[in-house]
Amino acid sequence: MVDARPARRFVVQLHRASRLHYDLRFEVDGALASWAVPKGPTLDPGVRRSAFRVDDHPMEYLDFEGVIPEGTYGGGDVIVWDIGTWTPHGTDDPARALEAGELHADVHGEKLRGRLVLVRRGDGSAGSDGEQWLLVHKKDSHAVKGWNPEDHPRSVLSGRTSDEVKADPERLWRSDLPAAEASIHLRRPDSSGPDEGELEALDELGTEGIWEVFGRELRLTNLDKVLFPARDGEEPVTKRELVRYAAQIAPTVLPYLAGRALNMHRYPNGADAKGFWHKQRPAHAPEWLTGWDNPEADPGETTTYVVADEPAAVVWAANFGALEWHAWTSLTDQPHRPTYALVDLDPGEATSWEDLLVLARLHRTAFEHTGVRAQPKVTGRRGIQIWVPISRGPTFDDTRAWVEQLSRTVGAVVPELVSWKWEVRERGGKARLDYTQNAINKTLVAPYSPRAAPGAPVSAPIEWDELDDPSLRPDGFTVRTVLDRLAAKGEPFRRVLADGQTLPKLS
Ligand code: MN
Repeated sequence: MVDARPARRFVVQLHRASRLHYDLRFEVDGALASWAVPKGPTLDPGVRRSAFRVDDHPMEYLDFEGVIPEGTYGGGDVIVWDIGTWTPHGTDDPARALEAGELHADVHGEKLRGRLVLVRRGDGSAGSDGEQWLLVHKKDSHAVKGWNPEDHPRSVLSGRTSDEVKADPERLWRSDLPAAEASIHLRRPDSSGPDEGELEALDELGTEGIWEVFGRELRLTNLDKVLFPARDGEEPVTKRELVRYAAQIAPTVLPYLAGRALNMHRYPNGADAKGFWHKQRPAHAPEWLTGWDNPEADPGETTTYVVADEPAAVVWAANFGALEWHAWTSLTDQPHRPTYALVDLDPGEATSWEDLLVLARLHRTAFEHTGVRAQPKVTGRRGIQIWVPISRGPTFDDTRAWVEQLSRTVGAVVPELVSWKWEVRERGGKARLDYTQNAINKTLVAPYSPRAAPGAPVSAPIEWDELDDPSLRPDGFTVRTVLDRLAAKGEPFRRVLADGQTLPKLS
């Protein structure tokens, strides 16, 4: 008999969340019926494994490999430990078999072969870990005595181990987004940007017109207007060039903007005219542009914010005259819980670049000493920011207090460089270690955002050891250079998205 139905898929994901486990998932009726198996499936027929039935997962999760942000459901790293097809044995209706509490599955994976049997234990009541089942491998021609999943630790998709994926993830799973959008690319930033044909179409537009990119039609205006004055020896940067950059950087910057309220710093008349903050989602914005209604808005405050949840939104913002993109440090679903803490090294008039580097290196030492992971970036102006990814939970009061304590300890080493005065004119030109930026609705420039200054400098993530590079400048990377840098050096800041952590007590 020939079975004409498409093969059902199965996957086993090795998932290091609060506890390491293997997630065994079978495609049943368009979803992934799932069990967490702490010790993992095996080919050894003499071994019985405990398995805990967990929520069905969407089919989109089938080949997910990457990281899930700490503080969200399943936070940790995931590799596709095995994948393949399966056929139910002894039934045409596996959903019904599951209801009855016994499923026999013939699996055809890379590691797992033969017949797996899942049997519900006891009365099927769910404990705190989920419904308890038993998993065994039948004594068949694929059975292997003594076979241990830990001897086969690598992903069947990438050949990488969990540690390797964690250190350099390709994808991020955002369970707060719809399943079709939840898997976000972190690497190969140029792979999903506009192609040559789309860029040519932009070049060929007149001063205005419709540009099709990222599956959207965007009405672009004033494309030949100069938005950034020239630096010495360079051409000024037009709106067309900004829009081009916005499209090229969108896949890279999007993970830092998605799910967050966006504060736009607009300069419709260019960076040498006065800019203003624009937070309200305009009534004329295209329908597809996501908005977020702030339930706590007071009368007269912004009620609906723009949320850049797709790459076209970044292009839209650029065309709207938003030269700078500042996203909240919290996600809209929990606006009072930041996803990172922030150290803002804010130079005073008398602070030299060398002074600022001294402060940055002292913070680097402090982070090394405390074992806290953090990533620096230059602001594109004169400063340096350090982002400290955290698992969601602490409030802004908590992160602000933690950063203040850290920075006061660092500042005490070089009191001649640092002022703790609030008023700029009382600081005597010294730098400020601005822990007060750890608050809701702050205007913190996003990584890769341009800055409203001659030459269109960019707030560029750097590696810690670049603080020792004598050529480093706070505004040295521009919309014309940062894409090549990304292609050559990769994206160091993605770790801010990947690794949540609990801030240790500072003594
Ligand atoms: Mn899991």
